[in-house]
Amino acid sequence: MGEPKTWSITSFYRFLPLTDERVADLREAVEDRMHRDQLLGLIIVSPEGINGTLAGGHPQIESFETFLVGRLRGEEIRFKRSESVEAPFHRVSVVIRQEIVGLKRPDLVPESAEDRHLSPAEWHAWLASDRPRTVIDTRNRYETKIGKFAEAVDPDLPNFSSWADYAESGAVPKDVPVLIYCTGGIRCEKVLLDLRQRGYHDVYQLRDGILGYLAEFPNGFYEGECYVFDDRVAVDQNLQPTQRYATCPGCGLPADAERTCGRCGCQYVVCPDCEATWGPVCSKPCRDLYLRHGLPAEQTA
Ligand SMILES: [Zn+2]
Ligand SMILES: [Zn+2]
Repeated sequence: MGEPKTWSITSFYRFLPLTDERVADLREAVEDRMHRDQLLGLIIVSPEGINGTLAGGHPQIESFETFLVGRLRGEEIRFKRSESVEAPFHRVSVVIRQEIVGLKRPDLVPESAEDRHLSPAEWHAWLASDRPRTVIDTRNRYETKIGKFAEAVDPDLPNFSSWADYAESGAVPKDVPVLIYCTGGIRCEKVLLDLRQRGYHDVYQLRDGILGYLAEFPNGFYEGECYVFDDRVAVDQNLQPTQRYATCPGCGLPADAERTCGRCGCQYVVCPDCEATWGPVCSKPCRDLYLRHGLPAEQTA
């Protein structure tokens, strides 16, 4: 079959209760299917549902989607599509976890997939209006750093499970509607229930997240790029793999400062934190040389 010229990518999640036996069966069936059809990606299966992103040839991706809906006995699943010339994954990973998204709150299980969801058009219209709202980005700080809805509050979360600390701080006003969003919608499913438990009754989430919004409003209210959890690093407003960001060799987060290594002369990209720690070098081997010998003479002159 060979590698596809263009990789079709599909992202999806579905909350639904699965017995341990069905979790194990589903994991195995999905993994077999991925090997058979040369699909790459990461899928999480859990007693609360399934979540994943896959890449492969276009017909194989389409047939996977049909297969998954069949395996879940016809449950509706919302698939978000994009494309990439480079492979966004290099392995097949199908793992079993307690939650399909890591809030450390397996007790929060969305019952209806469409509960308090705004379509991208409804979301866009609200943001274009002067209707009151507090917009909150529920993603991590390394994600909001490279793009977000302009007016959104950034809780500056180091990771998703720190959401509770932020919510407890009382920073979110209770008397205006709260609009929340994340990459594809899954994190907001839990945040919405969490906020409701805390007494917020007017909370809405962006259905299909930023990826769904950009598919309909590429030059709307979202600014910058959208971090994704695969080798593309981020996608731009047209859902194309980023031209701007690369993975920082030090920390693995997005970086866009282009440098020439003071030891080996290679071009590399680094984030400000790692540059401050590593000095003007591209990698650990070059850093070892730099610490022992400093920079070569022509560069220190
Ligand atoms: Zn870094
Ligand atoms: Zn180097």
